[in-house]
Amino acid sequence: MVRGARGAKVGVISLQGAVRPHVDALVELGATAVPIRTPDQLDGVDAVILPGGESTTMSMLLESSGLFEPLADRLGDGLPAFGTCAGMILLARRVLDGRPDQLSFGVVDIDVRRNAFGRQRDSFEADLEVAGVDGEPVHAVFIRAPVVERAGPEVEVLATVGERPVLARQGSVFVSSFHPELTGDRRLHARFLEEV
Ligand code: GLN
Repeated sequence: MVRGARGAKVGVISLQGAVRPHVDALVELGATAVPIRTPDQLDGVDAVILPGGESTTMSMLLESSGLFEPLADRLGDGLPAFGTCAGMILLARRVLDGRPDQLSFGVVDIDVRRNAFGRQRDSFEADLEVAGVDGEPVHAVFIRAPVVERAGPEVEVLATVGERPVLARQGSVFVSSFHPELTGDRRLHARFLEEV
């Protein structure tokens, strides 16, 4: 049992994308995973995960489901959040190469460029040294991943590929340009749950 996990209700935005592996990670760590598709399901969650997938589609579905505004309010009130890949894009202050009507919550002071590591066939894996995570490097899977082109002074970079931040936090909001839910290594979810 991870500190913060016992009894924690963690919402997983379940409109599109890689939802199930996040649910599995949370359950393995002793948290309660709550799939979120409607605004009322946000009530009572202690934290939220925005999964990978397609940020343009998620943006549209967040609007059509009525989730965008209430989730923006909760994030503005300091709800801990972990956004992975498309989820990182949705939490960013500024989205480059997005659709013009694409929304983001702007709670992490980063500019991200979509798909900037390359196309689907340029997806890659890397072993990362992560600040605050002991032991073996974290094996990270990048799938049409966003690149962080700017990180503001409040943003703490936790891991890089080359010079580029790929894992960062601003307060209790974490973002990764890779998919930590796909490897079975639960250390990053555990680290996030410590903030809950
Ligand atoms: N390229 C996708 C986007 O722009 C993100 C890819 C992912 O989440 N694996 O939303």
